[in-house]
Formats: sequence, structure tokens, C-alpha cells
Amino acid sequence: MSDSPRLVGGGELGEIPYLRPHPGPALFTRRSARFEALAGGHTLGDYLQFCGRLSAAQAVASAELPPPPDARNLAAVRPLDASVSHSDEWTEALQPIVRELLPAPMPAAAREGLTRLANLGRKPLAALAAKILSGDFEGLDLAVAPFAAAALQVQFVTRAARIPVGAVARAEGGCPLCGSRPVAGVVLGDDRLRYLACALCGSQWYLTRVKCSRCGSTAGISYFSLEGDSGAVKAEACDGCRSYVKLFYLERRPAADPEADDLATLALDTLVSEQGYQKNALNLFLLA
Ligand SMILES: [Zn+2]
Ligand SMILES: [Zn+2]
Repeated sequence: MSDSPRLVGGGELGEIPYLRPHPGPALFTRRSARFEALAGGHTLGDYLQFCGRLSAAQAVASAELPPPPDARNLAAVRPLDASVSHSDEWTEALQPIVRELLPAPMPAAAREGLTRLANLGRKPLAALAAKILSGDFEGLDLAVAPFAAAALQVQFVTRAARIPVGAVARAEGGCPLCGSRPVAGVVLGDDRLRYLACALCGSQWYLTRVKCSRCGSTAGISYFSLEGDSGAVKAEACDGCRSYVKLFYLERRPAADPEADDLATLALDTLVSEQGYQKNALNLFLLA
């Protein structure tokens, strides 16, 4: 082995992985801890704490879920396409979520929704899942939807983690595994790589920075942050289609979880939407 100094870096980033390695069900444990950490001293502390309990319940449910089907024969393009998924595997995650969550303090409406969901039959459950997965929330029962969405996340996260990242084809407009919208993006360290995080299956896919995640425009992109913020959270807004997505800069906010940090930074959403931008992102815990 030579001791002579070697040069690294340069203009090229090298080959950029399209998908980040999927953490699998550990995602829920991490997210739960992140919600707990964010809840302290936060104006939405009780809500964030409840979301932390819901994530912890998802971790329990994912451990109890039967192993997902063999991923080897799945298509490379959107192997988990949510718009065509009619599996009722997610309902197996419902009972553990209800059981884990019921002892927790929560608003009366949430408790009523949770109890009602636990007693729904097969048909209404299938209709509820189809509605959530379609992304069209018109007429959705908002008291039960976030809990059903949490169970659907358990199914999709568990499955996504089994798919080799190299086997997935690039796709435009949504998650390359399941087609869902992102919840937010993360910008990695000094390489300044940006990945969007799927709201449903938790996969993270690469998208060039300074590019609209909705219409693909690279012109007219601007960044908003809250006054006094260290640059750890920004809204990337597109003047072409008037949409935005939030980005968390992991160098300054290393523990950020796209879903948890999204809910802890809603003050930024309020101000950006007042500027006439619409969020091109979805948080499944915020359907209510
Ligand atoms: Zn996905
Ligand atoms: Zn755009």
C-alpha cells in the first residue's frame, strides 16, 4: 500500500445513485424518535407526539406483517404502482396499529375514527384504500383516512425495502416505485445531491437540484425560508407552475425525516402558500 497523497474530488460527482438504499421498517422507528424530538417545546407538540406514537405503532405492525411476496418477478417500471394495487395485505397492519394506539391520549374525534376503522368490513376498507391510493381525496372520510394511510404505508414500505435499488427504472412525475407524490426532499451533505422522498413507500429518488419537481422547469426557481432559519429548511418554488416542495438540508438538520420534519415546519407552508404557490407534496398523516 502506497503512502503517497491521492487527489479526490473535481468537477464531476461521479455516478449518482438514482435511489438511496431503503431503510425498510426501521424507517418507522427512526421517524417515531424524530417526531418525539421535534415535539419538545413545539406549538404543535401534542400533535407531533401523537404522530410519533402512530409511527411507533407502524413499526410494531410491520414486524407482525407476513413476509411480502417475492419481488423478483416485478416489473422494472413502477414495480409497486399504487394506482393498480388491489392487495388487501395492508388490512393486516390495521389491528396492530389500532391496538398500539388506542391507549394513547388523543382528541375524541381521532379516537372515534380509529374505533370506526377497526370495525369496517372488507368492502368499505377496499374502497377507502382505493380512494387514498388514487390521490383524489374528494369525499374521503378524514376521521379514518390517516390511520388507514398509516397501514398502507406499512405495506408499501415493507415491500419497497425488498426491491433491489438497481432493478428500478427511472420515472418522471412521482415515485419510481409506487407513483405517489413526494412528501418532501432532502439535500445531502457537501455533494449537494437532492433526493425526493415518497409519501407512501418511503423510497428516495434523485432529482437534479434547482429543477421543479412538478413541471421539470429549471428556470424561475426560487427558494423561501423562514426569517432566522439557518438555511436548514427551504421551500423550492417554481414560477412556471406555481408549485413548491420543501427541502431539508441534512448538513444543517442531520436527523431530518421528510415526513416528521414536514409536519414540524408547517409555518413555512403557510407563508409560501400565501405567496400563491401550491404544495406539490403529500403528507399522509395530514389528511385530517
Ligand atoms: Zn413510493
Ligand atoms: Zn414547475
